[in-house]
This record gives sequence, C-alpha cells and structure tokens, in this order.
Amino acid sequence: MYLTQVLHNAVRHRAAYPLTMFDGRVRSVAECVDRVGRLAAGLRVLGVGEGDRVALLAANSDRYHESLLAVAWAGGIVVPLNTRWVADEVRFALSDCSATVVITDERLLPVVAAVRQSAPVRTVVVMSDGRPPAGMVSFEELIGGHAPMPDVGRGGAETLGVFYTGGTTGRAKGAVLSHDNVFASAWGCLATGQFTTPGGRLLHAAPMFHLADFAIWIAGLLTGGTHVMVDGFTPGGVLAAIERYAVTDVLLVPTMIQVLADCPEAERFDVSSLVRLIYGGSPMPAATLAAARRMFPGAGLVQAYGMTELAPVATLLGPAEHDVPRLAASAGRAAPHAEVRVVDAAGDEVAAGVVGEVVVRGDHVMAGYWQRPEETAAALRDGWMHTGDAGYFDDDGYLFVVDRIKDMIIVGGENVYSVEVEHVLLQHPTVAACAVIGLPDARWGERVHALVVPAGDGADGEQLRAFCRGRLAGYKIPRTVELVASLPVSPAGKVLKSRLRQERVR
Ligand code: AMP
Ligand code: MG
Repeated sequence: MYLTQVLHNAVRHRAAYPLTMFDGRVRSVAECVDRVGRLAAGLRVLGVGEGDRVALLAANSDRYHESLLAVAWAGGIVVPLNTRWVADEVRFALSDCSATVVITDERLLPVVAAVRQSAPVRTVVVMSDGRPPAGMVSFEELIGGHAPMPDVGRGGAETLGVFYTGGTTGRAKGAVLSHDNVFASAWGCLATGQFTTPGGRLLHAAPMFHLADFAIWIAGLLTGGTHVMVDGFTPGGVLAAIERYAVTDVLLVPTMIQVLADCPEAERFDVSSLVRLIYGGSPMPAATLAAARRMFPGAGLVQAYGMTELAPVATLLGPAEHDVPRLAASAGRAAPHAEVRVVDAAGDEVAAGVVGEVVVRGDHVMAGYWQRPEETAAALRDGWMHTGDAGYFDDDGYLFVVDRIKDMIIVGGENVYSVEVEHVLLQHPTVAACAVIGLPDARWGERVHALVVPAGDGADGEQLRAFCRGRLAGYKIPRTVELVASLPVSPAGKVLKSRLRQERVR
C-alpha cells in the first residue's frame, strides 16, 4: 500500500466530499487531489526525484496536508521539522538528511532564510496568499503553473518520511518510517474500533510534524474523514474550532488538555460534537484526566502509548477502560499490530508485576535511524525496539509505564534529551560540569532543571539561560539553574541523576 492510494479511491467514490477545512476554507477530495497532483509536478520540476528529501517547516494548515501528500505523490521522502526549533537545530536536520527543497510558511520563513545558505537547500517554497521574497517559490504558483502529474505510487517498504526525534548523542536523529510502518500502526488502531470512525471530523490541534498527530491523520485518510486544522494551539482557538466545525475526534497531549481545562471561557463553547479525545505522548496526571472527563462529558477517552520509532502506537486504552480507576492509570494493552514485552537488562522477559524495559516488535517498527547504524543497532535488537521506557504488565496484560530509562524529559509533550542541553551548557566558559534533569511541573508535566558546577567565579543562572536561547528551542532551555559544588557520580563515573531528582522531588 502507498499513502496517496487513499486519494485515488476517494476521488472515485466521493469527489465532492469535504477533505480539509482550514480558516474558513473548505476543499473537496477532487480539489485536493488536483492540487496535490499539480504540486507534485511542480516539485518534480524543482528537481525532486524519487527518494529525495523534502523538508516541511510550517504551522498546521490545509496546505501542510497537501504538502505531505504531494511529496509522496512525487515519489519523494517527506521530512516534517519541529516548528519550535531555532535556526541551528533546523540547519542540523536539513544537513543531516540533505534536504534540497524546503516548504515553509510566512511565519517560519525567517528561520529558513537564516539557514538556507549553510544547508544543502536549493529551493524554498512558501505557502502564502501573497508573493514570496525574491529567490523563493510561491506554493500557489507552483500549483497553478503545472498540470497534475501521474502518481509515482512509491509505497510499501519504501520510505515515506524521516521524522526527527531527540538523540541520546545530543543531536536529533531521523526515524525512517515506511508506508507499511505507518499503515500497520493505523490499521491496528482502527481494528480496535477505538480510533476514528468513518465520516469523522478530525481536528489537527497538536502539531502535524509530530507522529502523534500523524497517526490520526493517516487513520482519518483511511476512514474517509474530514481534516480540520488550527495553525497554533490556543485554548479559545481549539474550542472554537470544535464548535464551528462540529469536530468528532481530536488528539491532544496532556499539557494541552490541562490548558483547555484552565481556560476561563471554556464553558462558552459547545463541544458536544466530540466523540473521541485521543491523548498520549507523556503520562497524564489523574487530575488532568478528571478535568478532561468534566470538559468533554460526551467524549470517550482513548490513550495511546508509543513513540516516533513505532509509527507511532504500541498500546491503547479505550473509553470503557477509563471507567475502571485502576486501569485508567495504565497505558492500556498492546494494539493488535504490536507485540509488547517487558524485559530485564539481559533482554529476557520478566513476570507480570516486575518492572523492566518496554520493548516492541511489529510491522510498524521503523527500519532504523537515518544514516545512524550505531544508534539503530542500539535501539533495534533482534527486531525489538527498545523504548527506553520502564514499565510492567499486570496479570491482564495492561501496561503501566512508570519511568524512563533514557535520559529524556517531556515538557508539554516535547521531548528534551538532557545530553543535548548539557552539551550547550558545557560550551559556556563558566561551566565546569553540569547535569540536566526533569522535575515535576503542574502545567508542563516536567520542567528542565540544570545543576551546574561553576568553573571559578561568575557563573550565573540567568546568564546561562540567555546563552542557551539562540542555541536551543525554548522548551529545552533550563527553567531553573542551580549552582552546586559537585555532582554525585557512580563508581563508573556516571552522574547519579535519579538521586539528584529524588533529592529535589521530596
Ligand atoms: P515521541 O517519540 O516524541 O512520541 O516520544 C515517545 C516517548 O513519549 C515514549 O518513549 C514515552 O517515554 C513517552 N510517552 C508516549 N506516550 C506515552 C503515554 N501514553 N504514557 C507515558 N509516556 C508516554
Ligand atoms: Mg513526545
């Protein structure tokens, strides 16, 4: 199967059906297919050949959806980038996958403009209604200027996209996902009957560059839904979109749900159309879960646990299971497409109730990281993806995720690898040593906390935060900096971060 296959059936069966709704603009299946075929032709003229990487750095919109489809239609590989990254982070990813074309929007244009000279980028395509700056290509003119090309139909085990995710070595690494990978996850989710159902109105409120939102995007394409986008997360904007477009399905990360619950005007909106609230990406505090139930009394809650490398779902917890308090604290059971096990350090499966590392196998597991054979070998062992999450199964096969083995902090659904922040801090002359840990945060789930051993005098928390600013995306910057005389280390010389965390959580 291949991604754009869904469009070919749709255009035969229900050409006039509304496929996208954004900012008051409604586009039918036929219109979208026509635009995607033209955009693909335009990309070919810009030199995108089979297997070439096309990066996407833009806010959610109907054009984002068209871009994802057009890159696949043209036979290219799509690389959705995090819109919160600073120029340096964007430059790294563009160079890492050697993307020659970047599709961006007016808001992200300054970032692209800042890096295009120092990255392999040849062409910048700008989604906007106006004229792009000199030397850049207009998205709409690209569509208007080319006749639709036939679909290349590249699919199956071929790469659909490269999705950057935090790296243990300090830089992001690209998870290589095939068409088969994302469909395996989507089919498995749909088979449970707990994901979107035919004719749904799906709201893309979480960033479309994340695999979490991508999961419901693919599911919606398969079930023939309508995709509604909002181009940024504001509580009023999301609630208004649910009301205005009679949204049935939305995927949110726990922090977003809490922000909605805290919104003073929340009750002004009619959100009764919502059938399903899908959440995941980080643990959900019980209080947030309760708030979600109060806010959307008519909606079933569905939790997904997974990761980018799993395209992305491994386990699901359905609406009825949320009514059982004990189960509501779990991440649910393995989805039909996924084999999920808990293993010890030797890789042997442990008994129910025993905590170990969660490992996952199935047709949805990525082929590896883009040009990173060592990290691929570390993550994929005998076909099992080692998640770096610690958890246990109960006797009924419910997975409880209890901790992270990997040195990662989740801030409002965005992953922060400690080592990346530590690398930046260590570049500052006043830092002799440092350790970055996650501490609990009521709003964001976790916050980034840095412990710094100063080199001589003059180390200053505010100054270090300022130093991080141009070098790291905002969510990665330590919210708090603590100066310490030394850091506790294990006999092997590793900083004992769990101890540092425990001392500060108590
Ligand atoms: P990402 O690749 O950005 O999707 O991040 C994947 C990581 O997010 C996982 O390895 C987990 O640590 C965390 N995560 C995702 N879903 C859940 C969940 N439902 N409960 C707890 N942690 C989660
Ligand atoms: Mg995440």
